[in-house]
Amino acid sequence: MPLYEYYCESCDGIFEALRPMREASDPVPCPVCDRDGRRIMPTSFAAFTFREGYARRLPDKGTYWHLGKEVKSRIRGPARPFEHPEINKPKPPPRKSKGDREVEREKQHLRGKEMQKMRASGVRPSKARLPKSLK
Ligand SMILES: [Zn+2]
Repeated sequence: MPLYEYYCESCDGIFEALRPMREASDPVPCPVCDRDGRRIMPTSFAAFTFREGYARRLPDKGTYWHLGKEVKSRIRGPARPFEHPEINKPKPPPRKSKGDREVEREKQHLRGKEMQKMRASGVRPSKARLPKSLK
């Protein structure tokens, strides 16, 4: 028997059930509340509008559904629509070019020199402006 997916509106959850093909579109009782769950098509999954945009997998594993994929957590904080960090991994920060690294090194070098000068002249550098690494 094929496995079909059903959605329980009162639990806002999705569950799977093995059904004979001819009974696939009949409602299936929800494993949690025993109310009728209606069949959802895998193709309509992404377009399916769930309450809050997510549906739980029943029995509840603590996961959520996002764009038809199972994810461990809801989106927190700002997110682009139709994306989820667990589905679309955030891009790694762009690698610094050779020129950028040289500029960075030069800055560090000058900062170090400045610090040496300040120490040599007995001026205490102001704490507030110092990065942690130089304290
Ligand atoms: Zn239910």
